[in-house]
Amino acid sequence: MACSASGGDAARAAELLQGARRVLLGAGAGLSAAAGLSYGGERFARNFAPFIEKYGMTDMYSAGFYPFPSEEARWGYWARHVWVNRHEPDALPLYRALHAFARERDGFVVTTNVDAQFEKAGFLPERLFAVQGDYGLLQCARSCHDALYPNRELVARMLARTEDCLVPSELVPACPVCGGPMAVHLRVDGRFVENAAWRAAQKRYRRFVEGVEREPAVLLELGVGWNTPGIVRFPFEALARATGAPLVRLNYDDARLPEGVPGVGLQGDIAELWPLIMSAAGRGKL
Ligand SMILES: [Zn+2]
Repeated sequence: MACSASGGDAARAAELLQGARRVLLGAGAGLSAAAGLSYGGERFARNFAPFIEKYGMTDMYSAGFYPFPSEEARWGYWARHVWVNRHEPDALPLYRALHAFARERDGFVVTTNVDAQFEKAGFLPERLFAVQGDYGLLQCARSCHDALYPNRELVARMLARTEDCLVPSELVPACPVCGGPMAVHLRVDGRFVENAAWRAAQKRYRRFVEGVEREPAVLLELGVGWNTPGIVRFPFEALARATGAPLVRLNYDDARLPEGVPGVGLQGDIAELWPLIMSAAGRGKL
């Protein structure tokens, strides 16, 4: 259950962030949900009514694992999922607000989100590591080769021609190398493509992390839950513990910091917490 953070915690977070010249942002699904890209509730019902009726789907997260009976059915769902989460939305206000803070600083972003919101909000691609992929790209589902293919046009065509939750067969993509099925560039198993650009981003991220050991930095963790805590949550705790870099953890469900981790945790809706921290820091100063 979420409860609002105390004013004292907001003031502490403001103090840490205000003084930071370098900042490492780590973000998870909770950030995009707070920004407006909720995977359930009204937004899901509004965008997926025919799919809810046909398949009994309850939210976009579990729908992503639905055992579709055909490629036409799979792409019928995924085209809509990719469109509403990746291609349709502009940069959301919460991401813009984070960018307004980060652009004044030497920063880097590591995120499990695949919606490209950081990039849309103006974060530089060379300061971003999207570990889990990008909804906007396709890969060979068998990962027979490591090329990635932008999917915006294809997805738009699929949406325009979806009937009864199915795309026409001629729009089902096939791998140009092995002829097998294609998939959204999203880590679901060991066949996720880590191409040269992905590895370069990983390298830049590691370099930034190594720099934290030498130069003071603040770790700002945003909406990172327990689906994949090994990517951001645990490494950030370990880094804070090892270097003394303070961790500012904003989380709707669980913002506690373990024993020995310096920093502050604020529990609540990040869309409310962030302005609270900004105003605690004094308008215009961050
Ligand atoms: Zn292939």
